[in-house]
Amino acid sequence: MQLDVISLSDSIVLSQFVDNINQFVFWKDRDSIYRGCNLKFANSAGFSSVDQIIGISDFDMPWSQEEAEFFRKIDKEVMDTGLPKLNFEEPQTQSDGSIMWISTSKVPLKDAKNEVVGILGWYIDITPLKSMEIEINEKSKALLEYNKALEQSKAALERSNRDMEMFTYAVSHDLKSPIRTIVSFSDIILSKYKGALDHKVVELLNYISDSGKNMNHLVENILNFARTGLENTNLELVSSKSIINKKRKELDQFIIDNNANIYDNTCDYHISCYPDLLGLVFYNLISNGIKYNESDSPTINISCEDLTTEIIFTIEDNGIGIEQKFADKIFEPFKRLHSSNIEGSGLGLSICRRIVELHGGRIWIEKNQSGGSIFKFSIQKSIS
Ligand code: ADP
Repeated sequence: MQLDVISLSDSIVLSQFVDNINQFVFWKDRDSIYRGCNLKFANSAGFSSVDQIIGISDFDMPWSQEEAEFFRKIDKEVMDTGLPKLNFEEPQTQSDGSIMWISTSKVPLKDAKNEVVGILGWYIDITPLKSMEIEINEKSKALLEYNKALEQSKAALERSNRDMEMFTYAVSHDLKSPIRTIVSFSDIILSKYKGALDHKVVELLNYISDSGKNMNHLVENILNFARTGLENTNLELVSSKSIINKKRKELDQFIIDNNANIYDNTCDYHISCYPDLLGLVFYNLISNGIKYNESDSPTINISCEDLTTEIIFTIEDNGIGIEQKFADKIFEPFKRLHSSNIEGSGLGLSICRRIVELHGGRIWIEKNQSGGSIFKFSIQKSIS
């Protein structure tokens, strides 16, 4: 190395330090002409010895024209202001054409009269760090775009779900009126003209009336299904027992007709919920427990567990039970395991699932060793 710009008495020590330091070191005169460097710098610029650097400028180096201009501009800034410029990042083209990212510092070199006579510069290779930074930036950008796309599809999905609910609601609502007409007209004909009608006609009219009633039941369920998405406005603080009692009353006749027993062993909680919807869950699970039951005395036990943030309700029956392999299927719309002779639409449990999810919970069945079914569902103690 050459030290002709600065002159120090212990230049040998300095020279060895500069040659062994893990930095690229160089110095230039007032015209930005190289006056010296360490071997590391010379090698990175494609020179085998330090001497080859002396007297040349950045335009004679492997860097690009823009890079050379930029390096000289910074040199000038440092020399004109007399102030150092530390740790700034810049790209630098190497002798093999590759780009090295460097973190550079430049300080003004001053003579004994404190006049600026050149600059001293050094830098380190930060290419691995920079590539990582570039990669992280690209990934964050991609992630942001992905999130944006996800938000857009979520919004589109919510819109189409809402539209679908509206559509289902409107169609089912409109269907109710003609069905009512069919059922009531067949019933009127049957009651008014029964004696005058051929028994085959009576049979057919009964068939029309029953089918109409079934259809009505189906439409009622579809309406309920659609409503579960429309009615999330009236969140209320109510007693859980009062919800169960109300549903039990509505099912009174059905319970008597089937000689069923309902045991409510739950504690009373004041829960923030959509009472009508939550009531529908109890209604569907209790009525299913009676419906899918061949016992002389269908029995339903309702109990609950109090967890920290949620309550788990259990509705257990002594009915025909559900095979574990259907544990998920039964919660899908229109999935029925026993369709032939038991009235139903296959929508009850999917309605339950939607309602329970609306309350921040989930619904599932558990294995019951002693036959019958065990339905469990959780709800958050407080939803907002
Ligand atoms: P639906 O009762 O109108 O058919 P659900 O969605 O309420 O519709 O139930 C889906 C299916 O799950 C039923 O058709 C029935 O096969 C089965 N299932 C529901 N509850 C019970 C139960 N407590 N015991 C046995 N099977 C049941």
